Amino acid sequence: HLPCVSLPHFLLLSTPAPPTKPAFVDAVSGDSLSYAELHSLTAAAASALSSAGLRHGDLALLVSPNSIHYPVLALAVLSLGAVLSTANPLLTHLELQTQVRDSEPVLIIAAVELVPKLDGILPGCSLIPIEPFLASLPREVDPPLPDVGVGPGHPATVMYSSGTTGKSKGVVSTHGNLTATASLLRHVWGGEARRDEVYACVVPLSHMFGFSVLVCGTLASGATTVVLRRYAVGELLTALEQHRVTRLPAVPPVVVQMARSCRAGLAGGRGLRSLKEVICSGAPIAREQLERFVECFPGTTVSQCYGLTETSGPITVCDGVKGRFHVSIGRLIPTMEARIADVRTGKALPPYRHGELCVRGPLVMQGYMKNKEATSVAIDREGWLHTGDLCYIDMRGLVYVVDRIKELIKYKAYQVSPAELEEVLSTHPDVLDVAVTWYPDEEAGEIPVACVVRKAGSNVKEDDIFAFMDNKVAPYKKIRKVAFVEFIPRSPSGKILRRHLKAAAVRRHRREISAR
Ligand code: ATP
Repeated sequence: HLPCVSLPHFLLLSTPAPPTKPAFVDAVSGDSLSYAELHSLTAAAASALSSAGLRHGDLALLVSPNSIHYPVLALAVLSLGAVLSTANPLLTHLELQTQVRDSEPVLIIAAVELVPKLDGILPGCSLIPIEPFLASLPREVDPPLPDVGVGPGHPATVMYSSGTTGKSKGVVSTHGNLTATASLLRHVWGGEARRDEVYACVVPLSHMFGFSVLVCGTLASGATTVVLRRYAVGELLTALEQHRVTRLPAVPPVVVQMARSCRAGLAGGRGLRSLKEVICSGAPIAREQLERFVECFPGTTVSQCYGLTETSGPITVCDGVKGRFHVSIGRLIPTMEARIADVRTGKALPPYRHGELCVRGPLVMQGYMKNKEATSVAIDREGWLHTGDLCYIDMRGLVYVVDRIKELIKYKAYQVSPAELEEVLSTHPDVLDVAVTWYPDEEAGEIPVACVVRKAGSNVKEDDIFAFMDNKVAPYKKIRKVAFVEFIPRSPSGKILRRHLKAAAVRRHRREISAR
């Protein structure tokens, strides 16, 4: 049975937390909002937004760093039946403009420090600076949440995908999608037993991973969330210690940096002993990185969960085992269906065979905003969402991500997985970081190139890398070229930005041809 009320009603009225329990705590100032305060402030903000002209069905854009008031504003918009769109506060003026032109909000709610960046971005659109708006709200006890009667199919959020494989797309998730996410996360992460958990919020709440886990999942479970306004590894380690955090949702770069800090002697101590689990998501993470993390923090599990903006939050989760890590992204969340489809024929494949992960069920988005064509490519007639990820499932139902289908290299008639080559290359003792890309070739189609960052003082050469790979991968998967680079471009969630790498590889190849 899945609830069919609006997301704010579901989160604020059915939480198992006692009213005085802190829902959100600021990691630095210690300011907090109890569950009762969250409820009354959300109701007051909704009433003020309504007075400012926000109506059922309107779209409001929230642009703010993480804060304890982020959930208040998000839930206030949603409780009016208006649609919430979010933008990462780190976007440039131009990027924000592209997003705003696509989604056409009637209202922008922005942190004061971001107002200059939004100046004149959409003529005729009202702008509410957050801090004075919050300060003007009346502090009443128990004002009622507006009851606008939204159905499960009513659009709730328009969040933008990361734009890793192309243009970032506005993804419409409904109240039904997000209440399902909230209740399923409460169910799979141990129900009310999670009430005593303390989560740290360091991933952006403007992204679906942060919003689904740290607003929907934590409020539905009645947990406390310690919010960090910005990410810096030292500040995170301090917050984990000070607030005795037990669960940390994170992206791979955070996991890697925590392990590095530990090795440099900066982490450890009492606080981290409270940390039971790091829940890593957003991008692939190498086995070696997971191993390093549990070596450094033996009392902590690193588990993975997996989801897309298009699935309104995680659709696979792992059961954490102390001091262990998981290479798998876990098992499918209940009520969802999955199948691995042959990339060429679309036919369902048996366990262990590699194919596209397709999923169906209550978490799949309604569609892309104003883009029926892209929606019908992503969701087929039978309702399967094509994730674009090459995966396999083992006999125990654990799912493994192999690569992204769009990123597979077609060398002659073969499919070569950059992620697989990166995993092997990263074990070379002189390689600090690596990413594999390609350039076009008339005869072979696509030529795999390794972009390698050498460790300090190393003088490793292309031939050494070729020799290292010799017995490790089949001949058709071999790297044909090595480019030594200063750094690997990555998104904030740790995804390799292959578009940039490929453009550089093509330029390099053209220069080499003309120099011959
Ligand atoms: P775009 O669709 O605009 O190219 P994107 O797919 O990167 O961007 P998101 O919705 O933010 O946008 O990311 C979803 C993708 O992130 C998944 O399809 C998958 O490739 C990757 N991902 C998420 N979690 C994991 C994980 N635990 N392991 C490996 N990959 C993951």
